[in-house]
Amino acid sequence: MTEELTLWDIDTELREAVELYEEAQTDEDRNLQQAAIRLYLEAHIRKVDKVAAYLRACAAHEAAAHQEAVRARAIHLRWASRAQRVKDMVLALMQERGEKRFEGVTAILRRQTNGGPAPAPIIGVPELVPDDLCTFNLKLSGQVWGQLRAAVPQAVRDMLDFGVRSEPDVQAIKAALERPCDACGGDRTVEINPAGQGHYDDLSEHHPCPICGGTGKNSVPGCRLQERGEHLRCE
Ligand SMILES: [Zn+2]
Repeated sequence: MTEELTLWDIDTELREAVELYEEAQTDEDRNLQQAAIRLYLEAHIRKVDKVAAYLRACAAHEAAAHQEAVRARAIHLRWASRAQRVKDMVLALMQERGEKRFEGVTAILRRQTNGGPAPAPIIGVPELVPDDLCTFNLKLSGQVWGQLRAAVPQAVRDMLDFGVRSEPDVQAIKAALERPCDACGGDRTVEINPAGQGHYDDLSEHHPCPICGGTGKNSVPGCRLQERGEHLRCE
């Protein structure tokens, strides 16, 4: 690692601080080393080029390591598939001849029934399976669901309520949260005419909207919009 980075004109102090952090064994040590990196960054935050050089070196090594991993995985898969191909061929041959085992001097090749739970049945033509051996999933909007519930007798409604699970509709919730507040129409304030105060009669007062709390946005019980996070760009 150390020699790999000398080519990159990396600040020794930053490089060593990162390496010490990685080698830390205890949480206490790790916190200590993290504080050292922070201290370095605070002291040298204006040394933009040094920090950028370090980030570029990391990116180059990451790319090289990734390539190496892809290559190693290809080798791993090649060996695994070679073995599988030969196993498949031997098994087919034994099945063809009705042989259960081949014995050599130091090894035995043996047909073995697969373990684990019995295989699931193959459903070739799903349309032919009787209704009582099927489950039924309905995906309805809340609005249609409400209409359906209202349209059926109580006994059916009870059965529906027992068997149906609802899940929040993320897209609908997002759209509702992004809509302007119904009460103030997104204005964030509401105009209130102070009634019964003679000398203010002509003036209306603006108050933060009590429904949205002055955000101008709609709210959905149990939900809130997430703010976008930030990340550092090195250009
Ligand atoms: Zn409002």
